[in-house]
Amino acid sequence: MRTKLVAGNWKMHGGLEANEALVRSVLAGVSGLTGVSVAVCAPFPYLAQLQSLLAGTALSWGAQNLSEHVQGAFTGEVSGAMLNDFSCGYVLVGHSERRSLYGESDAVVAAKYVSAQSAGLVPILCVGETLAEREAGQTMAVVSAQIDAVIQRAGVESFAKAVVAYEPVWAIGTGRTATSAQAQEVHAAIRAQLMALDKNVADSLQILYGGSVKPGNAQELFGMPDIDGGLIGGASLVAEDFLAICRAAAQ
Ligand code: PEP
Repeated sequence: MRTKLVAGNWKMHGGLEANEALVRSVLAGVSGLTGVSVAVCAPFPYLAQLQSLLAGTALSWGAQNLSEHVQGAFTGEVSGAMLNDFSCGYVLVGHSERRSLYGESDAVVAAKYVSAQSAGLVPILCVGETLAEREAGQTMAVVSAQIDAVIQRAGVESFAKAVVAYEPVWAIGTGRTATSAQAQEVHAAIRAQLMALDKNVADSLQILYGGSVKPGNAQELFGMPDIDGGLIGGASLVAEDFLAICRAAAQ
């Protein structure tokens, strides 16, 4: 039985005052929940704030990106070791906005995944197809290639210390959610891909669904056998919505 994980992705939203109010409300709501871990992934400047507010609590925190490099002349970049200085537990790797807006290839994403693990962070590896790819019947091929790039670079055993998030690009921030059956189909395929290489790793891997998860659809999604929680964008900015999603995962 895998524990569920609900991770919020604040994207480029937030501010000191709003963050504090949000995490205090979330913390109060998640404290009594069992069977679910909860994390929030914030913009870099707020990681110190989260460290000071959340250390020793039931709420984990993480970043939304990191450099594939360890250190050096990479202006504007942030390394895994720097995230570690702020006690991040998680870091998103390969979010579709990073892939599409910042040109991160499967190879770069795999390198970032390795950097995250080398720094002791748990990467949340995001994969997913575009609408055009789904309509062309390429969903499984695209997702499996994204996973395979990481297997080739880091080995299947690396997934023992990683989380995968299946996020169909057409469902992110659009209000259009994959049906629970569509999501389950891809989640099962991801698990099968890893199962062919290492049964134990595949069995214990948390595979999150992301893409317009809301209080109204969370329970059905999380009820599917291979959906182990969610990566939540817009709804993670509203404490009551995020908490309702966390409660759905805890049931
Ligand atoms: C995301 O940012 O990863 C995401 C899934 O966003 P939303 O929940 O808003 O679709």
